[in-house]
Amino acid sequence: MKFAERVENLPPYLFVGISRAIAAKKAQGIDVISFGIGDPDMQTPDPVLNALVAGSKKPANHKYPESEGLPEFRARVAKFYDDRFGVKLDPATEVINLIGAKEGIAHAALCFIDPGDISISPDPAYPVYEIGTMFAGGTTHFVTLKEENGYLIDFADIPTDVAKKAKTLWINYPNNPTGAIAPMSFFDEAVKYCKEFDIALLHDAAYTEVTYDGYVAPSVLQAEGAMDIAMEFHSLSKTANMTGWRVGFASGNPDMVNALMRVKSNIDSGLSQANQEMGIAALDLPAEWLDNNNAVYQKRRDKVVSILNEIGVPAVAPKGALYIWTPIPEGYTSAEFAQKLLDEVDVVVTPGNGYGPGGEGYIRLSLTIPDDQIDEGLRRLAKLRVGG
Ligand SMILES: *Cc1c(COP(=O)(O)O)cnc(C)c1O
Repeated sequence: MKFAERVENLPPYLFVGISRAIAAKKAQGIDVISFGIGDPDMQTPDPVLNALVAGSKKPANHKYPESEGLPEFRARVAKFYDDRFGVKLDPATEVINLIGAKEGIAHAALCFIDPGDISISPDPAYPVYEIGTMFAGGTTHFVTLKEENGYLIDFADIPTDVAKKAKTLWINYPNNPTGAIAPMSFFDEAVKYCKEFDIALLHDAAYTEVTYDGYVAPSVLQAEGAMDIAMEFHSLSKTANMTGWRVGFASGNPDMVNALMRVKSNIDSGLSQANQEMGIAALDLPAEWLDNNNAVYQKRRDKVVSILNEIGVPAVAPKGALYIWTPIPEGYTSAEFAQKLLDEVDVVVTPGNGYGPGGEGYIRLSLTIPDDQIDEGLRRLAKLRVGG
């Protein structure tokens, strides 16, 4: 059978190779510690689970949901934006729910990209920005995120003829995979740039609530003029240990939100209303819950960074997101170094080039594994001698 080019052209999903390597070790009776995948190990909090139980028993929730989401959910999102960022949103027109942020990110391309159009994406990046564009028939122009620039996009690196043709620009801070954060001035600059070239600014804000050392991440919608040109994607997956429940939302310019609603209403019928009620409960969690959850990651972050430094890997502690992104010692490619860790100490990390060629020379370690496994993984890493 001949499949469509969009399927034929798909790169192998990054984590399939990693899962295979783990399975092969397991078959030899070796217990691998995996810092590979970013999927919170901690439980969805009880108030959120209770909302699902109660929500499942309401007959109204047994029916098709509305694509844009329950008015109560969208109103709760608007309140979150006001409380958290001081941004006022009209819940009826400037907020839409998503079946996880990934769904909205992939479908957003269908709102802006026609065959042959250009999207600008950071490199390295969450792969869905590029794949969504490819599915819509467009191509991606990658801008390398440079360590010396704090992994912020340098707009001067984008050729003017590319900017003139581009339909979308993706940004993501706190960033996966680099852990970088963006100051408000960067968002101001991004908005100005996108207005100048009439580009839809799409911010993946999956990690704004997962931050450390007291750092508070801004929303792109706080930037002056952002509501004219920007849409932001949020997720409760990482914030509230809810990857299994698929609760996300997008907000911003009402025409952009409406376009996404029209695309989605022809593809899906919205997120289960009981899950939306879980989302409301998650947004209602007390600030202390989030502080405690983030404190667990912060402790893990500090342990991992300190062991990596001891063995000669120059990792730096990130202020946000769930990953340690670090250059590897000279003399290895990312894949070779990841393979060395697996071969010599049975530890899995993600090779940086899995997030694009700009990730070559780096590895990513996820902080989403239980503390006892982190400790065992670090004992193993401590035995490793790299460089010198
Ligand atoms: C995890 C992640 C997402 C996906 O979130 P879901 O709501 O679970 O779909 C989106 N963007 C980035 C950068 C992520 O790391």
